[in-house]
Amino acid sequence: MAAVAAHTPDGPPQDAPAPVVVVGSADSDPLARARLLPWYDPSVLAAASVVVVGVGALGNEVAKDLALAGVGTLVLVDPDVVEGSNLGRCCLFTAEDAAARRPKVAAASAGLRRMRPDGVPPQGLAVRTVQQRIESALDDPTAPLGAVSAAVGCLDNLDSRLTLSAWALHRRLPLADGAVSGLQGRVLVTPPGAAVCLECTLNATHRAALQRRYRCSGGEATLVERPQAAEVTTVAVVGAVVVRETLKQLLGQQRQALTGPWYYDGWTNEAAVLALQPSPQCAFHGQTAPPPAPSAGGGR
Ligand SMILES: [Zn+2]
Repeated sequence: MAAVAAHTPDGPPQDAPAPVVVVGSADSDPLARARLLPWYDPSVLAAASVVVVGVGALGNEVAKDLALAGVGTLVLVDPDVVEGSNLGRCCLFTAEDAAARRPKVAAASAGLRRMRPDGVPPQGLAVRTVQQRIESALDDPTAPLGAVSAAVGCLDNLDSRLTLSAWALHRRLPLADGAVSGLQGRVLVTPPGAAVCLECTLNATHRAALQRRYRCSGGEATLVERPQAAEVTTVAVVGAVVVRETLKQLLGQQRQALTGPWYYDGWTNEAAVLALQPSPQCAFHGQTAPPPAPSAGGGR
């Protein structure tokens, strides 16, 4: 075991009194550096299962980071196929995926395996895929959502965000919901028993749109939102915060978690955590009794 040289700020490297890095077996551990964090417990993460709802640009970033962090199981949920327009922001997709219009969940699963030269996903990750909207997946008893430890929202429409939020609240699952528009981002964390939620953030415009949505009974009507401008750097920043907050929830660091919506402006690189009050109009926090579960499968 050889001592290594330590740099000093005002001189050449000096012999360190004790080894700070051991060259050899320790560096063959993919999580060796993470283990140096006192709160980081790879065994907890290896036993965890996180559902990533939405596997577009943000979902790619989140799935990649969760895999590298050592989370044991990912459940990827998305109904869509890979398009060429995804390739500029999605590290897990290929041009072949777009040409074949491969399902995003399958392409992302393959991309996670490519992250290691031997084709084995990082840290022995298990990936399960659900090619459905979250609303359908919750009604599907075969969807592997029963044993997840945490949920992540990487969605692009309000309907699905609210469905995921309601399900996580009912299941008492920690949820980190991320959103990106151009160079602006937002992350909202709702731990089990959260005093506020995504629905508490809705303004009058959102609620008017939802009213129109729910009057469309019996059809496939959905709140269609225009495609948002997006570029990879803001997606990466927001994805990193989503994953960091999820790791805090999984590793018992809730006291360090975001306590309100986190907003990020990529033009100025400024970020702020805003105070969020329960909304009197929220189905969860504006009434004494919570609403029924979002679907028959919501209690799984
Ligand atoms: Zn609420």
